[in-house]
Amino acid sequence: MPYPGKFWLLIMEMLAGKYSKPQTIKIDYFLKAFMPKDDDFEHQTCPLCSQNTLILTERETEVPYFGKVYLFSMTCNNCKYHKADVEAMETKDSARYELEISSEEDMKVRVVKSSEATVKLPHLATITPGPASQGYVTNVEGILNRVKYQVEAAKEMEEDEEAKKKAKSLLKKIARITFGQEKQKLIIEDPSGNSAIISDKAIKSPLKVKVVEK
Ligand SMILES: [Zn+2]
Repeated sequence: MPYPGKFWLLIMEMLAGKYSKPQTIKIDYFLKAFMPKDDDFEHQTCPLCSQNTLILTERETEVPYFGKVYLFSMTCNNCKYHKADVEAMETKDSARYELEISSEEDMKVRVVKSSEATVKLPHLATITPGPASQGYVTNVEGILNRVKYQVEAAKEMEEDEEAKKKAKSLLKKIARITFGQEKQKLIIEDPSGNSAIISDKAIKSPLKVKVVEK
């Protein structure tokens, strides 16, 4: 049974014109979405550059203590447009996970992060959800590496000496965390429930959704 998950909803939204150049998405995405198994669709039309160079993939993987998850991605060989996401097979409640990273061993802790998650590393970085947000299965080290990459890129771009210094000190901080020399909180909040930190040390709680008062 093919899976009418979030990834396909995204494509439906594109078809409905929620994103730019929706007219370039062909209807055969749809048909293929409901075809059985497996699961690479090459030569699809890219929503960004309109070339037939987009590859869609869908994979299943088992994350221990979390369950089966679907991994989706679209990658364009021409313009390098990339979108990936992850969704748990079982519907899950919105959740908040908090982990104190305190040792090198913690680098291996598994992390599932959907595109709807907010990842907070207090006093270091925040990864926010949004149209450019990606979903993936990784570990704590993978999350830190992504932050490191961003900081390095920012440092290269930056001309202001003060800002360069700040980036340098953030990179040192990341290195210390990686070697277990400095403690760091990692918080993941996901209203979709498709994210998790898989560790006995991680504290899971229901995500409090802010109610906007009238
Ligand atoms: Zn493209």
